[in-house]
Amino acid sequence: MNTTQNYFCSMLRKIRTRFAPSPTGPLHMGGVRTALYAYLFAKHNQGDFILRIEDTDQTRFVLGAEEYIVESLKWCGIIPDEGVGFGGPHEPYRQSERKESGIYMKYAQQLLDSGNAYYAFDTTEELDMQRKNAEANKNTFVYNASTRSNLKNSLTLSQDEVKDLLQKNTPYVIRLNVPRGENISFVDLIRGTVTFDSTLVDDKVLIKADGMPTYHLAHIVDDIEMEITHAIRGEEWLPSAPAHIYIYRFLGKESSMPYYAHLPLLLKPEGNGKLSKRDGDRLGFPVFPLEWKDPSSGEISSGYREKGYYPEAFVNILALLGWNDGTEKEIFSMKELIDHFSLERIHKAGAKFDPDKAKWINEQYFRNCDNTDIAQRWLLTLKENNSISSERLHVPYIATAVSLLKEKIQFESQLWEAGSYLFLQPESYDDTILSKKWNAQAANFFSGLISHYSILNEWSVTSTEASFKEFAASQQINPGSMMQLFRILISGRSAGAGLFDMVALVGKDDVCSRIEKALLYLATKMPVS
Ligand code: GLU
Repeated sequence: MNTTQNYFCSMLRKIRTRFAPSPTGPLHMGGVRTALYAYLFAKHNQGDFILRIEDTDQTRFVLGAEEYIVESLKWCGIIPDEGVGFGGPHEPYRQSERKESGIYMKYAQQLLDSGNAYYAFDTTEELDMQRKNAEANKNTFVYNASTRSNLKNSLTLSQDEVKDLLQKNTPYVIRLNVPRGENISFVDLIRGTVTFDSTLVDDKVLIKADGMPTYHLAHIVDDIEMEITHAIRGEEWLPSAPAHIYIYRFLGKESSMPYYAHLPLLLKPEGNGKLSKRDGDRLGFPVFPLEWKDPSSGEISSGYREKGYYPEAFVNILALLGWNDGTEKEIFSMKELIDHFSLERIHKAGAKFDPDKAKWINEQYFRNCDNTDIAQRWLLTLKENNSISSERLHVPYIATAVSLLKEKIQFESQLWEAGSYLFLQPESYDDTILSKKWNAQAANFFSGLISHYSILNEWSVTSTEASFKEFAASQQINPGSMMQLFRILISGRSAGAGLFDMVALVGKDDVCSRIEKALLYLATKMPVS
């Protein structure tokens, strides 16, 4: 069947994509992007998105990695229709469990029976020797059509010898019998037609000595069984694709072969090379969605969630790393991404990660968030602080505080640092300004202001400002000369929320008490004659 027919068939089938990570550590943001694109493509086409855990490499298994993957997807709102932790008609979705049914061996046996796979009995030492010899001749050893005839396998040994070795439980692997000298082509949905010379393709191991299938066999068996129509995966798998095409062909399953889409790499901010955790450490940004504690070293790696990013913003950041909708639009909700997404608009070239752009995107979400929603979230953490008066632990008060601080910060998580003084009296005062400006006139002015304010009936932004100016005029003082000091006495800081906004919010009693407290402090720290 040619490609057009195949595409037509897949259009008649329900679109089914999968994300198939191996639980070898925390999910890198590149992995989350792969999951996102597979999810968006499925949802755009009213299809299904499946989470399959590919854990056949027992040596690379990392405790907690699978849970981390599931939690990361949930946090991002990339919710599988089927999969590990979500159930579905193809359970189990974990390959180590799927193996128990003998499904992978069944397919491997079919390849053996048709002569498209063979047993290889070479020991690790023998293969190492081959590698060394090749290196000595400035070559790289590859197990393929040009070398297999000199190696210990069921193509070179007699049937009796093979039978004998198998009966004696001699360790073996099953390898794919890749033909020599053919051009093998397939259509990649991002790159177009890709052609490889089969001579350069190695005889991939399909079943390992421990009886486990390799990725190469297992993902194909599962994609067939799970009726996957589109396999969207990282570019690192492109060189293996020709071997995968052969497996489908040898199994007589070319008509159910999914479309492959190999996603471009995420690149370092400088653009040279793959984005790694080290780049994040070096430049101060996370490369993982959630915080991760390495189970063996105990090392903690930061996550976007803990850094205060919104999941919607994180998804938006990832969506733009390698895709755009053809317009200038940069802020997309998940629904908009689903509506606009297409594989055709994925770029072929690697996507440079720009940490400042990531922050900017998150900031747009923060600016657009409703202050009451932010206040409701902030209330939960403020409640943990026993020093805050219960009168302030109400959404309307907190929402006003948010409105005073929002323009000064980029992240919701910076609210407390930016505006703790809206909840608690200051414990220290900005000395640099005070040491220059604090004098007897100021001390008199502020002790007079307490009395002036204490009889003020209406307490609002305008009335407190007017009253402040009126009092200054009565003392023949330029009000502007006292404003910065006033700010420091009230908040301890020389910059922050609008002065009278904050005075109005914290209330008369607290304002008077803060001035008093500051005057007492300054009387001992910076006595004026
Ligand atoms: N288990 C493979 C990985 O983690 C999946 C590749 C694929 O999606 O086919 O890279």
